[in-house]
Amino acid sequence: MSFQDLNLNTPLYNALDDLGFKTPTPIQAEAFNVVSSGKDMVGIAQTGTGKTFAYMLPILKNLKFSTQENPRILVLVPTRELVVQVVDEIEKLSKYINTRVLGVYGGTNINTQKQAIAAGIDILVATPGRLYDLALSRVLQLKSIQKLVIDEVDVMLDLGFKHQLINIFDILPEKRQNIMFSATMTEDVDLLINDFFKSPERVSIAISGTPLDNISQTRYKVPNFYTKINLLTHLLNDTETFNKVLIFVAFKKMADRLFDQLDEIFHDELCVIHSNKTQNYRLRSIEQFRNGDNRILVATDVMARGLDIDNVSHVINFDTPIYPENYMHRIGRTGRAERKGEALIFNTEKEADAIENIESLMNMEIPLMELPEEVTVSTELIPEERPVIKEHNNPNKRNKDEDAPGPAFHEKSEKNSKENLGGSYKFKIAAKYKKPKTRGDKNYNKRNKKK
Ligand code: AMP
Repeated sequence: MSFQDLNLNTPLYNALDDLGFKTPTPIQAEAFNVVSSGKDMVGIAQTGTGKTFAYMLPILKNLKFSTQENPRILVLVPTRELVVQVVDEIEKLSKYINTRVLGVYGGTNINTQKQAIAAGIDILVATPGRLYDLALSRVLQLKSIQKLVIDEVDVMLDLGFKHQLINIFDILPEKRQNIMFSATMTEDVDLLINDFFKSPERVSIAISGTPLDNISQTRYKVPNFYTKINLLTHLLNDTETFNKVLIFVAFKKMADRLFDQLDEIFHDELCVIHSNKTQNYRLRSIEQFRNGDNRILVATDVMARGLDIDNVSHVINFDTPIYPENYMHRIGRTGRAERKGEALIFNTEKEADAIENIESLMNMEIPLMELPEEVTVSTELIPEERPVIKEHNNPNKRNKDEDAPGPAFHEKSEKNSKENLGGSYKFKIAAKYKKPKTRGDKNYNKRNKKK
């Protein structure tokens, strides 16, 4: 496909010529018609794939010249660095178009930004906090916003911006197009999509399900968290083989829990990155791991995405990602520059379905290894692993009616009472890999029980 196929206009072609861009990247080719159609869209793409132009090309093509002061396009991004970068990209692309672009972010003088807004703008690029402050001050009017782009949604939610996003949704015109981009699919992203978007179209550049030949993979079936810790400790004790180890977990809580366990033994060799750590802490951790001062780095998916570190000897999946794409991203952190790399995955019985999805995506089975004899199998369970105790025939137990909320309970607002059906992505994955999945999918079971 060439840019000619997208039927752009002369000013855009000239700008692309100046930039020396010859063909659209896959995400640009995929997203163009969806964004042009006006439908809500969720794009799964990492930085570096050309995602900024993937939404800006169709938006700029269709944006009519206007002298009105209020912005018509709002782009929300998680960091000030990204505001600067996105504004820069838009300016390059709109070089021959009369478009007014402005970037705003916190930590700088709000009055200067108010003046710039009052002068009139078409496209506003902002971090959520500053955007909300400006909207509350009434200098910024959002009533003309036609399109909302949220970039790096996964990072935004991981940084805890969910409520700020919801506040912003509330003050935007209801009739608008929502376009969002996320590099990783996470449960938080899925929930946000289900709650606030109208059956968005998903656009993703198919991640290759073919792992590199130079990455060898191994799987261990492990009954519980503490046995995983025992296995991990056993492996990490072999400092010669496991000389640069990146350990992945899905959530920051689990990252901290794992860090605490490992810290007792591997104190001087260990560092961690997740979004509750400050930017400085994260940068220091990555640097110490990169230069070899620390042998072991514990990281969450969102934070470690795109990490480019040489000579990672092992990637250890301490948990099994429910989105198989995340597994591909994780193991791709080793075996870089054609060096040999090893990827290990620990899975409990509960994670068996996720293993099946990963194996379907790769079209291969991950070789299973026996737990080494030296590894103690623990019977201790973390709270999430403990069975839920159901009490029968307990005379002191209150019955259901008594438990019902009394008048002090407020009705949920209409918006919040909306039933979250959830799990749509999981169903898509199941359909994609042609596996009818009922067992173990709590949303599916819940829905069917209701019928
Ligand atoms: P992004 O993923 O939006 O951060 O873009 C990554 C880099 O690719 C940026 O420096 C863009 O300027 C560049 N880029 C975007 N589209 C193209 C294209 N079609 N051909 C070559 N480079 C591109």
